[in-house]
Amino acid sequence: MEENTASGLREQQLRRKRIRKIKSTIVAGVAAWILITSVLTVTLLVKLLRMENRLNELAQSIISVEQVVEDVNEKSAPSPEESADTSDMLGNAQGLLDDNAYKEGQKQKVYLTFDDGPSENTAKILDILKEKNIKATFFVIGQEDEKSKELYQRIVAEGHTLGMHSFSHKYNVIYESLEAFSEDVAHLQSYLAEVTGITPEIMRFPGGSSNQVSNTDMTEFIRFLNEKGITYYDWNVASGDATSQVYTPDELVENVMNDVGRYETSIVLMHDAANKSSTVEALIPMIEKLQEMGVELLPIDENTTLIQQIPADSVK
Ligand SMILES: [Zn+2]
Repeated sequence: MEENTASGLREQQLRRKRIRKIKSTIVAGVAAWILITSVLTVTLLVKLLRMENRLNELAQSIISVEQVVEDVNEKSAPSPEESADTSDMLGNAQGLLDDNAYKEGQKQKVYLTFDDGPSENTAKILDILKEKNIKATFFVIGQEDEKSKELYQRIVAEGHTLGMHSFSHKYNVIYESLEAFSEDVAHLQSYLAEVTGITPEIMRFPGGSSNQVSNTDMTEFIRFLNEKGITYYDWNVASGDATSQVYTPDELVENVMNDVGRYETSIVLMHDAANKSSTVEALIPMIEKLQEMGVELLPIDENTTLIQQIPADSVK
């Protein structure tokens, strides 16, 4: 009897020991599992964050390529003094050289142009132009949201000129081939006609007609526009709002005023984009200074002197 009790006790103790062992094994297993999944989660998160950073870097480099393009092309518009040196490079660029130089007593014409809209700033630009009773020119891209549609309509309704600047504004896509370019232009032209009732017949090439990034010879696109009766305008005065250098609103005004005095006809390059609030801030002082100078501020129309880095009539 005593022996039975003793062996029963030992057995019980052994069973408890086994249960404790099983319990601690389970606890250890669960802990290990939690640890492994946490480590895996953290590793994946780190990888995800790195990928996101890499994507941002890539997006940034695409943007800076676009800025370099605009930068390079803004610099390719020479002042009359520089024209002797650069005329070889630019052939007989239209409106950039002596034929358009300001001569005493002439009435100067200035065309304010805004590329890349509609944007969050379009309404502000339109409000200022309305307040100052000035008409300008908008070279727009394709945006299909309702707000943008209203902005295209407002541009037309308020008497400004609606010009094209490509639907996608993606250099690598539109300049890939004549087919891609012509499809893009046709798409934008019919889209704008549908939204505004006006079929735009003027255009500004993204990066300008003598841009150095096109994969295709620009003369192919110029020939196409000539055949379609679409007139393109470059610029001879750059505000500098698309260069890699960031200018204050005062400096943008100064950049424009420094160049406008040189020409009979000035086409001023500015940008209508969400991140270009300096351009909006520069607009009132710029218009006031130009008015003090006594120039005519006009929207581009069929009588506007052509300002072309590559003259359209040099391409047959
Ligand atoms: Zn542009």
